[in-house]
Amino acid sequence: MQQFPVFKTKISGDTKVFNLDDPKQIEPYFQHKIGHEIAKIKDYLNENTFVAYLLGKKNAGKGTYSKIFMNIFGSERVSHLSVGDIVRGVDDEMKDPKKKEQLISYLKKNYRGYHSLKDIIKSQEERGTGKPLLPTEYILTLLKREIERIGRKVLFIDGLPRSLDQISYSLFFRELIGFRDDPDMFILFEVPERVIDERLKYRVVCPVCYTPRNLKLLVTSKVGYDEQKKKFFLKCDNPGCKEAIMVPKEGDELGIEAIRDRLVSDQQLIDQAFSLFGIPKVLLRNTVPVEKAIDLVNDYEITPGYDMKYDEPSKKVSVFKTSYVVKDDFDVDSYSLMPQAVAVSMIKQIADNLGL
Ligand SMILES: [Zn+2]
Repeated sequence: MQQFPVFKTKISGDTKVFNLDDPKQIEPYFQHKIGHEIAKIKDYLNENTFVAYLLGKKNAGKGTYSKIFMNIFGSERVSHLSVGDIVRGVDDEMKDPKKKEQLISYLKKNYRGYHSLKDIIKSQEERGTGKPLLPTEYILTLLKREIERIGRKVLFIDGLPRSLDQISYSLFFRELIGFRDDPDMFILFEVPERVIDERLKYRVVCPVCYTPRNLKLLVTSKVGYDEQKKKFFLKCDNPGCKEAIMVPKEGDELGIEAIRDRLVSDQQLIDQAFSLFGIPKVLLRNTVPVEKAIDLVNDYEITPGYDMKYDEPSKKVSVFKTSYVVKDDFDVDSYSLMPQAVAVSMIKQIADNLGL
């Protein structure tokens, strides 16, 4: 395992402060830090696109970064393709006889591979019951179909490559989908396992709008306390959700141990992609060593932790922002960065890779 380089987002002499929890300050923040690169990429996207393969451990937050990119550059120019979501979407199509027929007719025209269509439909229907992964050639056909629907946009692809033998498919994927002249690149994520562990263990989701939050790392404005369970809880901030109580997901309390095998294979994939020649890479590091933080980032770019106290007589909950220090995978005391700060690094590196 190779450690990714640290990235400097701090502009020397800069005293401006942003609150990255406030959605209104996000755009001014990006303009302030990388307005120049954003303008150049916008210009580039008027005529061109690119393909980016997102490679990181499960729960590294890959979806977050394509979303940030999409918010800056517009969903008419950018699309996030999750192989997992596409395959789940096919489950629904299978339930509708007409859509199932359309899918099979598409596959008949476009699929080439070692397994018969009959077998593939069967594996798709029995998916998730401990059966082996769906064949790569089938996944590629589904991706091709999705890309035909989307049209010519920047693509962030999450879930391909999923295994070591799929890496070479991704190297030639743009030729397969007819993106011949568009640049492609790998975006690799480095997030310490301890951060992933706490994101999982303390994760809660709104039962109405599915917004995820975290009891330790990302709270809402309304924190409550359940006297019977002796536990704090969060209420959703979204006005439409009428203060719905956010709930943990089944299995999350186990943290990373429940996904240990997956983390090991994801790491192998990252290592392999890291050592590839010829394809540009974007290296995103979630942490900065505590010792170097002052030179590299602004305080407001560091993810805080939250502590809560319950006062029984007044039944009031107080929430305190604390400094969240975590050991990275190389055992160095580190701060975890806010996603926007990591996105600053991503956008700069993308601009570089596109030669802008
Ligand atoms: Zn909600």
